Amino acid sequence: MILLSVSEISLILNAKSIGMNMNVLINTISTNSNEIKKKCMFIALIGKRYDGHDFIEQAVMAGAQAVLVNRYVSVNVPQIIVVDTYHALVKIASWLRDRVSSKVIAITGSSGKTSVKNMTVSILKNCGTVVSTQGNQNNLIGVPITLLNLTYQSDFAVIELGSNQLGELNKLSKIVAADVALVNNIFISHLSGFRSLKSIQQEKGEIFSGLACNGQVVINGDSNAVFMWNSMLQLKKRWWFSIYVKKEMDFFANNICIYPHGVRFILSSPYGVAPVFLSILGRHSVSNALAASALAFSVGANLSEIVYGLQNIQPLPGRLYPILLNDGKLLLLDDTYNSNVGSMIEAINVLSVMPGYRILVISDMLELGERYVAIQYHYYIARLISESKIDQILTIGNISYLISKNCKEGKHFHNKNKLIRYLLNNILFQNTYISILVKGSRSFQMERIVDIIRDQF
Ligand code: ATP
Ligand code: MG
Repeated sequence: MILLSVSEISLILNAKSIGMNMNVLINTISTNSNEIKKKCMFIALIGKRYDGHDFIEQAVMAGAQAVLVNRYVSVNVPQIIVVDTYHALVKIASWLRDRVSSKVIAITGSSGKTSVKNMTVSILKNCGTVVSTQGNQNNLIGVPITLLNLTYQSDFAVIELGSNQLGELNKLSKIVAADVALVNNIFISHLSGFRSLKSIQQEKGEIFSGLACNGQVVINGDSNAVFMWNSMLQLKKRWWFSIYVKKEMDFFANNICIYPHGVRFILSSPYGVAPVFLSILGRHSVSNALAASALAFSVGANLSEIVYGLQNIQPLPGRLYPILLNDGKLLLLDDTYNSNVGSMIEAINVLSVMPGYRILVISDMLELGERYVAIQYHYYIARLISESKIDQILTIGNISYLISKNCKEGKHFHNKNKLIRYLLNNILFQNTYISILVKGSRSFQMERIVDIIRDQF
């Protein structure tokens, strides 16, 4: 953040401030009393489960130089009093966003937001100073917090926007006011919040509602419902990318070669053609790389910066992260970060090209709405697995037994411990090459299976 005094912040917010020294300088803001840095102002947000006002004393003890609150509190640092502390957080972020000349990129989609964000950051680091989303700070609180990291020296901001509910992306896109926006793809997920694929498409399109007047959009020619967004896009400049189609695409890939250790392809762009090797797995990574290339080009990167940035990308923990064990005989793919229909399809494709005996270990895909809809999607995945080159499928969960029941060599387990015992006693120590991919929705904590397998070697 740029250095601001408490009185300057209260002026931005048009708010009352109380305290002795209003000239105290602030250059970071935190909503978490455990994360107070130097020159920090603590904002007391009120959430469903917590009221930040209960943590003010703790924040001040940890070094907060000022607090932003919705009522008078007894503290020995300056305080700014507003009606709504969340609204104030957004107002400071928007004020800062308006002042800096950074090019801002907004990314949403059902899958691959973080992957594309990391690729774009890896490219733009070669071109200037970059602010970007950290961890999973992609929600209504995390996005303004991320924007607060902007300074006059920031050349670019790459911001991930997530959404579980209708209306969230409209708000987020207006806070971000991006110069370039991407909907990476659309799959069925978070159906409890959205109800239908159509409402997911509509919600994702809201990323364009806050786009700058001369803003640009990047469109996935393989997946997006662009016709639904026409009214919002109007005459905005559009760049299209695809891994399947070449005609009328601005960015596409030729000669895609999938290897167990990465993907090679020829990147074709309006600015030239170049070979790229990605040290991450799966055909979808090529799609993500095309999206990142289009985003980076649109804010001024050149072809060699793009190739260099993409080649430096390393696998992300929990996202098809490869772990070699047993002197290279056992390849464990940790895809436990999360699961939905789109990423499950990619996981099946990736495991199918891995060496040796291929075992898929999965839990239910959650957030698919009504039970009958969830069942249909699990049947669909069962069909894909049956048609794939996967040798064995092990499941846990209330619905995924439908998958193991409908696949040859399928086994269902009532809990993780039983599944792990089966792997230990029957599979792991065989003297053959084996590839195991472990995946599941977040709440299944499938990473425990990965940790236990890893601990055996
Ligand atoms: P979240 O909504 O949790 O923030 P995300 O959209 O940021 O997720 P990533 O963290 O990049 O997504 O990846 C999550 C999962 O999706 C991983 O299993 C990854 O392999 C898979 N994935 C990444 N990109 C794609 C893609 N383009 N198509 C399908 N699956 C993908
Ligand atoms: Mg993410």
